[in-house]
Amino acid sequence: MKNIETIAIHGSMKAHEKENDTVVPGIEVSTIYEHRNGGHHEGDDKYIRLSNPNRHQLENVIGQLEGGEHCAVFASGMAAISSVFQTVKSGAHVMIAQDVYFGTRKLMWEFGEKWGLDVEFVDMTDLDAVKNSLKENTQLVWLETPSNPRLLITDVRAVSKLASSKGAVVAVDNTWPTPYNMRPLELGADISIHSTTKYLGGHSDILGGAVITDDESLFEKIRLIQRVQGAVPSPRDAWLLSRSIRSFPYRMRAHNDNARKVADYLSKHSNVEDVYYPGLETHKGHEIAKSQMDDFGGMISFIIDGGAKEAIEIVGRSKMIIAATSLGGIESIWEHRKSSEGADSPSPDNLIRLSVGLEHSDDIIADIEQALD
Ligand SMILES: *Cc1c(COP(=O)(O)O)cnc(C)c1O
Repeated sequence: MKNIETIAIHGSMKAHEKENDTVVPGIEVSTIYEHRNGGHHEGDDKYIRLSNPNRHQLENVIGQLEGGEHCAVFASGMAAISSVFQTVKSGAHVMIAQDVYFGTRKLMWEFGEKWGLDVEFVDMTDLDAVKNSLKENTQLVWLETPSNPRLLITDVRAVSKLASSKGAVVAVDNTWPTPYNMRPLELGADISIHSTTKYLGGHSDILGGAVITDDESLFEKIRLIQRVQGAVPSPRDAWLLSRSIRSFPYRMRAHNDNARKVADYLSKHSNVEDVYYPGLETHKGHEIAKSQMDDFGGMISFIIDGGAKEAIEIVGRSKMIIAATSLGGIESIWEHRKSSEGADSPSPDNLIRLSVGLEHSDDIIADIEQALD
């Protein structure tokens, strides 16, 4: 089993090995396990927070999609992200890309100091800045590429090389590219994390997160945090996510194709000043993106000719595209990003963020056209 489409279908959701068994596994809701060993128990199957068959199946398939040895799934992307930051020793230096998911920034603003972390935000598209900011006690380097919301591209191979020379762990938030388009562990990163709420779930109806790594001792810490802090997904959510992942590679292919068409269209529109999509040859990070990604994903941000007021009006004029936060679902959604992030947001006033869905690209473009004109 090698190709991603095959892994997605057969990497989880195996029923038990009974004769004439169901093809699709059930949802195992039991919180407790019977101790058959003369009243005493061995192994992890003791209690649902520690272990559950649907969660195992999900961890198995996500690990394989990312080409990673170990995977732990969480109740949300933020729970997955928090677990990685909690592996860092108090007093250590942590570097985070400037243009990073708003929730990750907020996590550090609210808890970085409490957890004793020396947090520094660095422009990771600038390798000299990365080199100069690395310290002897840098323990974690955190990045996203393409970043949110400006789709800046960071060279994962180069940053991983620099960081590992200092013994620092590199974690990549791979929510936007997804393993269909990029596999951070192959590029030298130590950890890949996901908000599975987005493309892996793909239907805007499941909250979840995942951490994937090949590093055994790091994974032991993540597993401990998952089990002891207990932010685990329910069996139903784990089952539904495994189910959704079965069609994920085909969905992702269509997200990529549609986004490319929409980005081309936007880049020729007279009311659009700039389009941030790494698949465009005019994008500053295009060459690096091409070297580390198989395709460029379904997210586009664009800068309109006007200010915040005009951007909000455009978003409000759509007839099909839904005005909403989040991304990665089958339906196209867009938002004025600055309003969503609040006053502290570094997002430009006139930036609209679009998650290109799986409707026909002509219909998506027609709706954007009437909203822009
Ligand atoms: C949504 C998102 C998260 C947070 O995930 P939740 O599932 O909402 O907790 C983290 N990183 C990125 C890039 C995201 O888009």
